[in-house]
Amino acid sequence: QFDITELDLPDILGTIHEEVRARFGEGKVANYIDALAHVPLDQFGMALVTREGHVFEVGDSREAFSIQSISKVHTLTMALDAVGDALWERVDREPSGDPFNSLIQLEYEKGIPRNPFINAGALVVADVILSNYDKPEEALLKFMRARSGSEDVGGDEVVAKSERESGYRNIATANFIRSYGNIKNDVDAVLDLYFLQCSLRMNCVELARSVSYLAGKGRCNVSGEQVVSWQLATRINSLMMTAGTYDAAGDFAFYVGLPAKSGVGGGIVAVVPHVMSLCVWYPGLDDQGNSILGRFALHRFAQMTGLSVF
Ligand code: GLN
Repeated sequence: QFDITELDLPDILGTIHEEVRARFGEGKVANYIDALAHVPLDQFGMALVTREGHVFEVGDSREAFSIQSISKVHTLTMALDAVGDALWERVDREPSGDPFNSLIQLEYEKGIPRNPFINAGALVVADVILSNYDKPEEALLKFMRARSGSEDVGGDEVVAKSERESGYRNIATANFIRSYGNIKNDVDAVLDLYFLQCSLRMNCVELARSVSYLAGKGRCNVSGEQVVSWQLATRINSLMMTAGTYDAAGDFAFYVGLPAKSGVGGGIVAVVPHVMSLCVWYPGLDDQGNSILGRFALHRFAQMTGLSVF
């Protein structure tokens, strides 16, 4: 068991902040929608929530941003809660090695996405939520608010609308999966839920809190609820490790060594099982669509603290 009381966390966060600031401007913001294309590259936030619920934060950690694919962790949790292992008949658990929005493997694998964290997998997960929750959109918001401890969490209508207007590839993916029968609901309803989850706005502190259950044997330290079993928390972490950062998952395992999930808004959540959950945010992305300085910050954090699942 790692004793984090030996670490000077404020000092470590301060050092990371300085190092990141010296590199402001690196990477490219996601430009497929206007709302993301103009986010300035001089913002960085980082927050961590210890198992005991203590928060350490630095920089723009209270600035809300578009969480995008980070939401795939939360929707996966909701789907597993509803249908359990039956989910694995519809989504696989292998890293894809392809970009997050790739369609190529879907044809070979007859509409079964490689994992729940690429877009194809998240669309099937959204379909499962639609089939199993009475009011899926409300259920998603309720889940996010309870996990983050913030009633302010909500969708950004402008983002959701432009996701839809520019969503040719997601629309194609959903229809392609539907053609194999692995989406059961109306494709537009599935896409609406998916675009809503992508459009949620949260800050680093809220996001770090929102995955505290993955660091706490399934128990959320915001609400005190047992969200999932210990075993399930472990399994979700394993999927984040192998697929949470898409075709850079190997690189993340190598340089960071922690389960992580990224989004094209520049946020990345990470988990140190039994110890803490974290979130970093910097809007500039690398070629795989992961925050370039967010990855660097997590790498430096792992290096300076020695925290790693390996
Ligand atoms: N809205 C983005 C998409 O569907 C989310 C992708 C991401 O964050 N990696 O393409």
